Amino acid sequence: MKWVKPLVGIFLVLVMLGMVVSAVIIPKQSDIPLKPPEKLTEGELQMIYKKYGITENDIKFAKGVLPSYLKGTILNGSKRVIVTENGKVPENIAKKLKGKGIDYIVISYEEMNKIIENARKRYIKKYGVDPANPRVEVVDGVVLPKEYVKILVEHRLLKLEQPTYTTTVSSCGNPSNGPHAIDGQIEVHVFVAKDGKHVPTEPFESDTKNALERFENFNVNVQVTFYYGFWNASDVSDWDDAGKLLDDLAKDTSWVIDSKNDIVIGWVNYANHNGVAYPDGMWDLNNDGTPDFAPYALCAVEASTPDWPHDSIVQHEASHLFGADDQGYWWWEHPPCIMNYGWAYLGVDCWCDDCGSCVASNINP
Ligand SMILES: [Zn+2]
Repeated sequence: MKWVKPLVGIFLVLVMLGMVVSAVIIPKQSDIPLKPPEKLTEGELQMIYKKYGITENDIKFAKGVLPSYLKGTILNGSKRVIVTENGKVPENIAKKLKGKGIDYIVISYEEMNKIIENARKRYIKKYGVDPANPRVEVVDGVVLPKEYVKILVEHRLLKLEQPTYTTTVSSCGNPSNGPHAIDGQIEVHVFVAKDGKHVPTEPFESDTKNALERFENFNVNVQVTFYYGFWNASDVSDWDDAGKLLDDLAKDTSWVIDSKNDIVIGWVNYANHNGVAYPDGMWDLNNDGTPDFAPYALCAVEASTPDWPHDSIVQHEASHLFGADDQGYWWWEHPPCIMNYGWAYLGVDCWCDDCGSCVASNINP
């Protein structure tokens, strides 16, 4: 039996030698350089585009040179359209709009989805680009394949979005005056920026609904209404400043809020952050030194940093409104959870136990 150990040792040495040899012979990423965007040469970029099958139109789409996929539809911001599940506007909203003398069209989710799907199909046929699934994104000003961006992030060669505020310890806001369910009901009003600079170029609607329905895990019923053609963000001084866009959203859509179970989600095409929300749904909106009810969150389909999936943005920002805080940057700093930036980028759809109980205690007190 004394031969066993040396034999195992020799075998292990051979295995390790084999691993070293294969690592040397088989280069990783088939010679594609792994570098942060600012260090890539034009030649290397072209090599990367070729490897990932990126076309001229993919790049044009990412740069915003192609027309909107919704061009010619009623959802392109030119008309006021309200979308609800059954195609009927809730009584209180109808009354308010009548009082303001505002006309609008009402359609159902089903009709909205049909318009989006048809527009998407036409676009794919015409440009070979799926606006719901673009192959590239702009990172630090450089157009890169999404798959390549993910590899860079995994190798820590690219930073994710910088948190707007961080907490090292798990903390949970307890805003007794913040947004919460009433009779088990949460009303979400989704306002889509209508002006040319801010109108989204990618569909986000079903991701938004899916993300909001995850809050039904907390024993509430979530009702989602979409508003197209209402919110004009063209008067925001720094056009891509997420915080200023959020302030504009709060100012322009406050008319829709009449109860503590109302929250507003705004969608723009691009901002310097993928999302931002007033912590705990409270903020001193009128600058009188005391926090006001401020159940507003802003989402952007694109940011300068690696883009989060649309549903991650909505779930993360809406959770802020219900007291949950940011929980670290990289995914090894926190259990799988939407409140951690790394996990949100990777597309988790859950809350960890701590963040989940935080949202639960606030949304359904
Ligand atoms: Zn968490």
